[in-house]
Amino acid sequence: MHQRLTNACTRAGRSADSVTLLAVSKTQPAAAVRAAHAAGQSAFGENYVQEGLAKIEALADLRPELEWHLIGPLQSNKTRVVAEAFDWVHSIDRLKIAQRLSEQRPAWAAPLQVCLQVNVSGEGSKSGVAPAGLPALAQAVAALPRLRLRGLMAIPEPAGDEAAQRQPHRALRELLEALRQQGLALDTLSTGMSADLEAAVLEGATLVRVGTAIFGERA
Ligand SMILES: *Cc1c(COP(=O)(O)O)cnc(C)c1O
Repeated sequence: MHQRLTNACTRAGRSADSVTLLAVSKTQPAAAVRAAHAAGQSAFGENYVQEGLAKIEALADLRPELEWHLIGPLQSNKTRVVAEAFDWVHSIDRLKIAQRLSEQRPAWAAPLQVCLQVNVSGEGSKSGVAPAGLPALAQAVAALPRLRLRGLMAIPEPAGDEAAQRQPHRALRELLEALRQQGLALDTLSTGMSADLEAAVLEGATLVRVGTAIFGERA
């Protein structure tokens, strides 16, 4: 996996440390996360709040060395536990969720690092803010005191060849660049998974979310 990422960076003319590898550990047992940590991995992504919380608790002894990212959908009745336990949330697509996370982030913790999930594939996918609604949401989230808006996240529809795969990643990068021009200090493009991480890195991804290519097929 590291070799694949390094090769992609070389092709893109980027340094290997310009892309963070987020290991997506959904459905994997805590023991698999522990083994990955022992092999040098520190950032882990979870889709389901309850499953993520159980693993965070099971691995509490490693907590200072681990960074936990919520990458799946978040309902408003789960925001408190997420604000208390996670370091990052990638899947914010409405202001109400962001406001709750900001209000509920404990005073003892660092600001919650967040990305806005954008629907770059159109009708096909249901999650994510539409590009037209992004500027207003970004300005509002950036103003929340206990959140730190870091960038954008997308889950593009699967596409065949690399040229087709690149299109939604490029669209996401252009949206990020437009927000920067509006004065927002954003540094994170969370896009690319096992099937399309090369296309994502070629289009400027700074964080790729990889499950299968690290842990094997999910049951
Ligand atoms: C499952 C998942 C991933 C990882 O997918 P793989 O194909 O296993 O690499 C990345 N991002 C999100 C949001 C996911 O749900």
